[in-house]
Amino acid sequence: MSSIRSGGCLCGKVRYQATEDPVFSIQCYCRDCQHMSGGGHAPQFAVKRNSVTKSGPLKTHQITSDAGNAVEFGFCGECGSPVYKTTAHAPELIFFFAGSLDDPAQFSIGSKVYEERRQPWDES
Ligand SMILES: [Zn+2]
Ligand SMILES: [Zn+2]
Repeated sequence: MSSIRSGGCLCGKVRYQATEDPVFSIQCYCRDCQHMSGGGHAPQFAVKRNSVTKSGPLKTHQITSDAGNAVEFGFCGECGSPVYKTTAHAPELIFFFAGSLDDPAQFSIGSKVYEERRQPWDES
C-alpha cells in the first residue's frame, strides 16, 4: 500500500499526509462505524499518529465505543465528511477512512472486524 499516504474531505479544505505507510487496514461493521459513515461499514487504515500531519477545519466528536474505549471521530467542519478516528485502545495509531484517500483504488482490506454487527443488506 505504498501510495496510501494522502487524502482529504469532500470539499477539499481538510487535508492529511503521512510520512509512513499504513500499519494495517480493516473493514469495520460496528454500529459506531455504521452511524458515522451512514452506511453498513467503514473501510479504514491505521497509520502511526506521529507520522501524520493534518490541516483544515477539522471538528471532532468523542464517544465511548461498544468495547468501552474512548473514541474520537474527526470530520470536516465545512462539508461534514468523515476523515479519521482514534481510539484509546491504540493511542499510537490514527485510522483514516479509505474513501478519503486521494487514490482510494490503492486501498485493500486486511481483515474484517465486528462482522457480527453486519447488516443483512450490506453485501460487501
Ligand atoms: Zn470538507
Ligand atoms: Zn467500527
